[in-house]
Amino acid sequence: MKPIRELLKEIAHSSDPDRAVTEHAYQGFSESEKKEFQQKHQNVYAGKVRELIRTDNELLIYHTDRLSAFDRFIGLVPYKGTILADISQYWLEAAAAVVPTHYLSRPHERVLRCISCTPYKVEVVVRGYMAGSMMRAYQKGEREFCGVKLPEGLEPYRSLPEPIITPTTKAAAFEHDEDATPRQLVQQGVCTQEEWTEISTMALNLFRFGQQKYAEKGWILVDTKYEFGRDGTGQIRLIDEIHTPDSSRLWVKANYETNLARGDAPEMLDKETVRRYLLDLGFSGQGVVPNVPVNRLVALAETYLKVAETLIGRPLMSVGPLPHTPSV
Ligand code: C5P
Repeated sequence: MKPIRELLKEIAHSSDPDRAVTEHAYQGFSESEKKEFQQKHQNVYAGKVRELIRTDNELLIYHTDRLSAFDRFIGLVPYKGTILADISQYWLEAAAAVVPTHYLSRPHERVLRCISCTPYKVEVVVRGYMAGSMMRAYQKGEREFCGVKLPEGLEPYRSLPEPIITPTTKAAAFEHDEDATPRQLVQQGVCTQEEWTEISTMALNLFRFGQQKYAEKGWILVDTKYEFGRDGTGQIRLIDEIHTPDSSRLWVKANYETNLARGDAPEMLDKETVRRYLLDLGFSGQGVVPNVPVNRLVALAETYLKVAETLIGRPLMSVGPLPHTPSV
């Protein structure tokens, strides 16, 4: 086992960093591994950044190093999968005090073992601040988001009067998710009104919990995305990752006011830096994905590592490059 910090340094200082990233990054199941798994297990799915194996009662989530933004594959961020599995495990264990979760155990650094649930096909996005796609739409004049009417005069990067939920219906991997009002979710059969009441209450409770815990570390949980599912007994559980920098915006609290007073954006600890790099090149999800330089991808891994190590309170370790998918 080696500290991930050292492994990232090896990549950054290598004579051929592009090759080093490909060698170190775990890309997911190969075609032959998929066939092998399909023979042994019931279901194998490829998500945007994770691979899933589902049996009757359990779900194994394999965290790859694939980076997605604007619902497209952007590149490989070495050790991101291990770092996110660490962050998810931390939050899933902590969140068990707030809602039932699907987490069972961590059989490998890249794998979480979870209770198999039938997912609700909705991404429950909770926002506490004016940021991201909502900020861009607000600046163009939109005032209603998924059935929530926002007042005039909200400033970029400032907190909303109170956290709001802007759900999106889940599209297939690498297709764009669509905004939906709670009424549309019920009409489309995604969930019943009663289920939505339970899910939205859980999401707001988790968001308050996440904001408080991140604030203790000096960060602002700006917005995030939750997913929920129903287990075999009918219990609604939090599924998927939670409060990771892949599924959340995180800003630094210490220089938030001074940055805004200077007219700058807050300091970001999430993949927004890569999103902005792509937006500056005119890419927001359509057409050919621009090449993101390898030093930016390694820098993103270092940012995620900083979040994880501060949160968890110890250096994160890895076995290093994985020639094959680990068997668990
Ligand atoms: O880009 P947007 O502002 O709509 O994203 C809102 C929040 O939901 C962000 O924290 C983002 O990381 C998260 N999100 C996500 N997966 C998606 C869409 C949004 O994790 N497919």
